Amino acid sequence: MTGDPIDVEEVARRAADLRLRVERAAGGRAVEIIAVTKGFGPAAVVAAIHCGFTAVGENYAQELLAKAASLPTDQQPQWHFLGRLQRNKVRALAPVVDLWQSVDRIELIDEIAARAPGARVFIQANLSGEAHKGGAPLADVADLVTHARAVGLRVDGLMGVGPQGAPEEARSGFRAVVALADELGVRHRSIGMTEDLEVAVEEGSTMVRVGSALFGPRPPR
Ligand SMILES: *Cc1c(COP(=O)(O)O)cnc(C)c1O
Repeated sequence: MTGDPIDVEEVARRAADLRLRVERAAGGRAVEIIAVTKGFGPAAVVAAIHCGFTAVGENYAQELLAKAASLPTDQQPQWHFLGRLQRNKVRALAPVVDLWQSVDRIELIDEIAARAPGARVFIQANLSGEAHKGGAPLADVADLVTHARAVGLRVDGLMGVGPQGAPEEARSGFRAVVALADELGVRHRSIGMTEDLEVAVEEGSTMVRVGSALFGPRPPR
C-alpha cells in the first residue's frame, strides 16, 4: 500500500461518470459496480463507501486484511477477493471475505469449504491464455462448479478478466462466460473492468470491477 492520493470529490465525480457509462451500456438492466481499491490505501475504501459503493474488491491478501483492520467494524464494505489466491491465505481471509471471485481450482474450493463453510464464490475462467491472470480453462469450469456445489459452497457466478489490448478483443471471451453461466444456472457474470466494461455489459455482464476509472492510475506495486 502506498500513500493516500485520494481526493473524495474527485472520486465522486469519477463515480458519477462511471455510473453513466455503465447505464448507457446496460440500457436499463441492473449492473453492479465493484470498487477495486488495490494499490491505494484505506482512504480509497472510505471514499468508495462515501460514493455509495457497498462492495470493494482487492487482489492481495495482506493488503485486504490491512485495510479491513484499519476500518471500524461498522464501516466495513463487503469485501470481494479478486486476485490469485494461495491456499495458505484462505484461513486468514475467511473471517473477512464476503465473496471469493477468483476460485479456479479444486484445492482452493476444498480449503474455502473447510475454512468458510457455505461461502459465496464465483468460479474464475481464464479468457486470455495468460497464466498469471489466473482462472481455469473454460472447459474445466463446469466441473469446478459441480465440485464447489457438492462441498456446500454457494456458487453465485463466473468471473473473467479480458485480455490486454483493445476492448473488442475481450468480446468473444466475455460471450463464452455468459453462455456458460446461462448453461450452469449461475446468476452473476463478473466481467468488465475500466477499459472494457462497455463490451462486457453489452455481452451480459451483471457485475463490473472498476479501479482506475474511480481512483486514477494505480501507483506501481
Ligand atoms: C485490478 C483489477 C480490476 C480493476 O482494474 P481497472 O482496470 O483498474 O478497472 C478488476 N478485476 C481484477 C481481477 C483486477 O485485478
